[in-house]
Amino acid sequence: MSHKTREVVMHDSATPALPGIEMGGNVLIGKLDDIVNWGRRNSLFPLTFGLACCAIEMMSTAGARFDIARFGMEAFRATPRQADVMIVAGRVSKKMAPVLRQIYDQMPSPKWVISMGACASCGGIFNNYAIVQGVDQIVPVDVYVPGCPPSPDALMYALIKLQQKIRAERTGMLLELTPKETAALETTHAHAIEGAKG
Ligand code: SF4
Repeated sequence: MSHKTREVVMHDSATPALPGIEMGGNVLIGKLDDIVNWGRRNSLFPLTFGLACCAIEMMSTAGARFDIARFGMEAFRATPRQADVMIVAGRVSKKMAPVLRQIYDQMPSPKWVISMGACASCGGIFNNYAIVQGVDQIVPVDVYVPGCPPSPDALMYALIKLQQKIRAERTGMLLELTPKETAALETTHAHAIEGAKG
């Protein structure tokens, strides 16, 4: 018995159906969270934020050999207003910490942070008065990339992990914080920045 495929025609009342003109369309049905997260995770715009040697490896991910464009992420933005993922590539000095936080605050939500390399994640070999011992003291980090420096492959693996994380996110999650919890979070970050200023 042969199967027949029937096309579902979507038609809204504002568009007149003209005789003799075929109307067709594709229908996508899914949970709102799934559709929103699908769009978000496949169009991440990284912020151009190289701080030290790790940034060279980050730059190579955008080159032809590794080709970050395959993931829809090739549009590195020079302004935080147009970026939604900050890749902290390199050591963060205490002088840079308030600037980093300000740039993070200027990014629109939802936003994500990748800590690239040992220096960004825990200070690396620079356990001294000038370097922040982990960028998570300044901004919330979603994915850490180990290594000194991590290879472009490692960064791409981290980006895939971030995509998996975004896939599981719920759109209403940010609204679940109570005002008290939000204030407590802001106080913690403000203290960290004050501490970094010394
Ligand atoms: S982790 Fe290594 S390569 Fe990266 S900024 Fe630190 S010293 Fe440089």
